[in-house]
Amino acid sequence: MKLVYTHENRLIVLNVRNILSDHGIEVVLNNEYASSAAGGLAPIDTWPEVWIANDDDFGSSMKIIDSLDVELMTVMWQCRECLEKNDETFDYCWNCKRDRS
Ligand SMILES: [Zn+2]
Repeated sequence: MKLVYTHENRLIVLNVRNILSDHGIEVVLNNEYASSAAGGLAPIDTWPEVWIANDDDFGSSMKIIDSLDVELMTVMWQCRECLEKNDETFDYCWNCKRDRS
């Protein structure tokens, strides 16, 4: 078992897990729900983690992960006015202030 990826955003971690398993790599998810029970731990300790079952897959896993654009995996919406990409949590375009709808 080797840790290949961790991120504070659970959706991104799940995406990485799915992509690796699409490549035939056996993956194990750790800490998936830990953040709700974080207690006194430092936040980094409770980020969801992607582990690979076979150490032999480490090289190919890292190659796949390196080629991913994490930005694209975040949930975004695109402004109709200026085509800028905005984070899901924004109701207005950060660039031109047009509202989302
Ligand atoms: Zn805009």
